[in-house]
Amino acid sequence: MESPELTGAPPVEPPIFEKSRPGHRGAEVPAAGVETPPVAELLSGAALRAAPPALPELAEPQVVRHYTRLSHLNHAIDLGIYPLGSCTMKYNPKVNDELAALPGFAALHPYQNPSEVQGALELMWELERSLCAVTGMHRATLQPSAGAHGELVGILMIQAYHRDHGGENRDTVIVPDSAHGTNLATATMAGYRVRELPSSGRGLIDPGALQAALTERTAALMLTNPNTLGLFEEDIIEISRLTHEAGALIYYDGANLNAIMGKARPGDMGMDVVHMNLHKTFSTPHGGGGPGSGPVAVGGTLEAYLPLPLVDRRDDPGAGPYFYLECDRPRSVGRVKGFYGNVGVLVRAYAYILRMGGEGLRRASEDAVLNANYLRARLCDLYEVPFDRMCMHEFVASAARQKQETGVTARDIAKRLLDHGVHAPTIYFPLIVPEAMMIEPTESEDLASLDRFADLLRDIDREARREPAMVTEAPHTTPVRRPDETRAARQPMLRWRS
Ligand SMILES: *Cc1c(COP(=O)(O)O)cnc(C)c1O
Repeated sequence: MESPELTGAPPVEPPIFEKSRPGHRGAEVPAAGVETPPVAELLSGAALRAAPPALPELAEPQVVRHYTRLSHLNHAIDLGIYPLGSCTMKYNPKVNDELAALPGFAALHPYQNPSEVQGALELMWELERSLCAVTGMHRATLQPSAGAHGELVGILMIQAYHRDHGGENRDTVIVPDSAHGTNLATATMAGYRVRELPSSGRGLIDPGALQAALTERTAALMLTNPNTLGLFEEDIIEISRLTHEAGALIYYDGANLNAIMGKARPGDMGMDVVHMNLHKTFSTPHGGGGPGSGPVAVGGTLEAYLPLPLVDRRDDPGAGPYFYLECDRPRSVGRVKGFYGNVGVLVRAYAYILRMGGEGLRRASEDAVLNANYLRARLCDLYEVPFDRMCMHEFVASAARQKQETGVTARDIAKRLLDHGVHAPTIYFPLIVPEAMMIEPTESEDLASLDRFADLLRDIDREARREPAMVTEAPHTTPVRRPDETRAARQPMLRWRS
């Protein structure tokens, strides 16, 4: 299948095309017993194939076994801890998937008349209010289909606001160097120049440095809080005041809200716009490319610019509530997604919030922060933790000491974890920490699982000192060992060729 240099280990499961046996069938369908017109009468010209497609031919058990084996080659949250910093890969209750699959939600058609989908609209109306309650904001759009999409929507709203308020010259967005990479990309995509703000020695935004960076050209400050070092911006109120005094707005990246929900609210910190990742904090399994949902909540300043349509509610006397799509919003930035957004994700989020309640969400935050601090405390004697104090839901350790003393790098350590069936943490991010290992255990791991992860990292440190080749040549047990990552990205092999 792949060229030999891409795989150190033999493929454990060949592509399905190579398992094909001519004449094998999954199911025999009996003759329909009715006359059907020849295909050529239904399709014509270019739409008609010259020859049948070369599909693999296999019996049903072989197909099922093939895909079941493939599904076991990947790490999954259903198999073990997934401590990927800045991404909240937590375990989510399966019941929320079941609720989203209920035919009353899953079988709706987006073109149905609102009068026929009142339940779904009510759910969206309620979810919007719940998310506003969690963030302390006024209103929210549920349309964006990812965090990065939500960021773009938020920045477009900021742009529209400045256009309406004589701020056409504001062409710069300030982004701290500890921000998530999508923040810079978003500002750039929206046509802004990005001004990077270096973190202070404590890993935070320095209000003095911010003040010096703010000018009459600043449209917005985009910040991630807790930042990607897992630290809460201690001067957030001052940061908010300075930014607003300069006539700029603040974008709050709330993709990972599981450190602060139930504890602190961006709205109370003076934030103008905040996006959340329902596929991180609010119960949709995350990874594998979607679907996701990145609702964007705004304070009063930006409410008029929210995308169309919003779900609104009208109470007709004697008839009870009626939910409808509000499209008459002249200052809106317009439509940002087809139909209603990813409704299945919205159902999971709503179910999760209902089940947890305010108290449950608070506990989730407390557990997420406790788990991260527990791991930090269990590792900080062996691994450098550059900002070694109370963290939020994640922390950044460094393998700089291991690299210097043994030659083993963060990448090697991450690879070695795979041999033990544990997903690697995020490595080499944030860029401001050398040999960074960004660890987020999340609230859904128990003590035994945290201890196993900490023990493994301690064992790997010992191994690096005694038998470094075990680490530098890892992984030893995975079907693909160390692919050439650049080549895999630049020259991906995406289809099978005989
Ligand atoms: C994940 C993440 C994003 C981007 O969200 P996507 O849904 O992957 O587009 C943005 N900011 C932060 C802090 C994140 O963790």
